[in-house]
Amino acid sequence: MEQHLSRRLYEAANGRTWFDERQGPINVTVKFDDAGQLLVDLGPGLGELSNTAEMEDLESWLINAADLEVADRFTHRGIVFRFDGKDMYFYHPEERPPPPRRSASLNGVPRIVLSPGHGYYRLYGKKDNYSWVFQRSEQHGVQEDVITMEYAELLQEEMRQRIWGAVPVLARFDASYTHAETKQPWRHISARYYLAWQYPKNPEIWHSLPDDKTQGRERLEDIRSRPFFANHVDAAAAVHLHTNAEPSGTVRGTRVYYHRGSPESKKLADRLLCGMKEIVRSLPRYEDFPMDEEARNDGNYGENRLAAMPSALVELAFHSNKGDAAALLDDDFKKAVVSGLTKGFKLYREGAECEPFMVELGEGYGYTNHIGTVTLSFKGYPRTPVDFHFEEFDCGPLATECINQYGSRYSVSSPMYYPLRCPNRPGPHKYRLTMTDADGVISNAAEGEINCKFVDW
Ligand SMILES: [Zn+2]
Repeated sequence: MEQHLSRRLYEAANGRTWFDERQGPINVTVKFDDAGQLLVDLGPGLGELSNTAEMEDLESWLINAADLEVADRFTHRGIVFRFDGKDMYFYHPEERPPPPRRSASLNGVPRIVLSPGHGYYRLYGKKDNYSWVFQRSEQHGVQEDVITMEYAELLQEEMRQRIWGAVPVLARFDASYTHAETKQPWRHISARYYLAWQYPKNPEIWHSLPDDKTQGRERLEDIRSRPFFANHVDAAAAVHLHTNAEPSGTVRGTRVYYHRGSPESKKLADRLLCGMKEIVRSLPRYEDFPMDEEARNDGNYGENRLAAMPSALVELAFHSNKGDAAALLDDDFKKAVVSGLTKGFKLYREGAECEPFMVELGEGYGYTNHIGTVTLSFKGYPRTPVDFHFEEFDCGPLATECINQYGSRYSVSSPMYYPLRCPNRPGPHKYRLTMTDADGVISNAAEGEINCKFVDW
């Protein structure tokens, strides 16, 4: 297995150029450690480059390539990259994550930093004439640099409406007017330049690598500017939005990454994933949409690593896959994703678990032809208003037809009473209850009965 993986990852690593003129062949050795982690060693030559944006791309490429190989054979406990046996901090001790701190922003209202991945950036150096480019290429109609901004705006709007006492802020500028230097709309421009404009006196946010003279310097500064911005505004959490890619075009689905060793980030990442899963899959078209069970800690993403608060990187779907790309462009999918992320964030903030929406019917009493009462209880976190659908079944021999009843509630709690009408037939009546919340999440169908006494006032 290790040899097989080493070979496959070698092919993936050497199938394209990552580090321009500096790259020779990349060695890849794969080993499992005692903890069940997959150690991927890229040899001694690349240690110096371990903190570059190109290395993040290469690592992400290898994570996806490994996944394609091992998906249904076993579960490893995360992929860790090494360089001649050493981790990145051996070569770049300054890259260690900052100590976590509690958010306490100046005006008392914590910010949630929403960071749309990538965007237009400038190639550094005369060789490239300081020209500007997108960071990703378009595939199946999806330009990652642009679509992440769209999702971030939708998410910001959703969070504004549904999350109280915290302000969602974007790391890029959501304006359509022109960025003078590039003639691109501002919304296409990566975070680094927006933050340079917003925080001219804080170059440590957006110009953190003044000594780097390589072509990719501003791209890496862009990646770093996002957690540095979140740290600067003392954000309560950071959520980075991306779409994923890998060469085969077959890998699909949603993944969420957090930085190894940050339990709070894992909690945030797990809740975000769970919220998305529940709501995206409630759409019939996406009921089988592939989504992880748990957030992943593979690799070493600067956006998460350098954040001093809980931070999660969301790979919404694979733009390299045709079906996933179509989903990314679908308005219903977009809406479900941002509802799911918002719900996940709320669960995280409330310290709640992520539970499936399950209902149980208790006892019910009433008088024929009058409103009676049933008790019910549920698990999960339905968003209100919630619709109730009672379907009568096994109607007695006197019944001409079963009577269904509908209702809606702006406030629900568990357990709760619900007014259910007794039909004009004495005796027990069997009902099947399903509840549907405002996100379209549908509960199980719970069975129970209401006992109706005959009354003749
Ligand atoms: Zn990305």
